[in-house]
Amino acid sequence: MIKIKNDRFRSSRGGASKVLTLGCGSCRSIIFDYQKDGKGNLIRLYLDRITNNYHNVELQSGSVKCPACSRALGNISIYKKENRVALFLERGALVKLS
Ligand SMILES: [Zn+2]
Repeated sequence: MIKIKNDRFRSSRGGASKVLTLGCGSCRSIIFDYQKDGKGNLIRLYLDRITNNYHNVELQSGSVKCPACSRALGNISIYKKENRVALFLERGALVKLS
């Protein structure tokens, strides 16, 4: 059982969370498990909510690509409103596998 992280970021989004398995939008390779807090589409992935990085994709800085097909997934940057590091996703780059 994956433990849900519970902190001020979660409570500020209404307290509802679920863990998603995310895959590449092009080749469907499984890439991350991600704790999504609150409702709405995935626009960015906060690095502190990535609970499993299946291919140890490097998430230090700059652009991130699918380890299998090299599709551009997004860019690492700071979400300034919360001073929180996130992967800002390209449109359609990741799909929910479960
Ligand atoms: Zn891919």
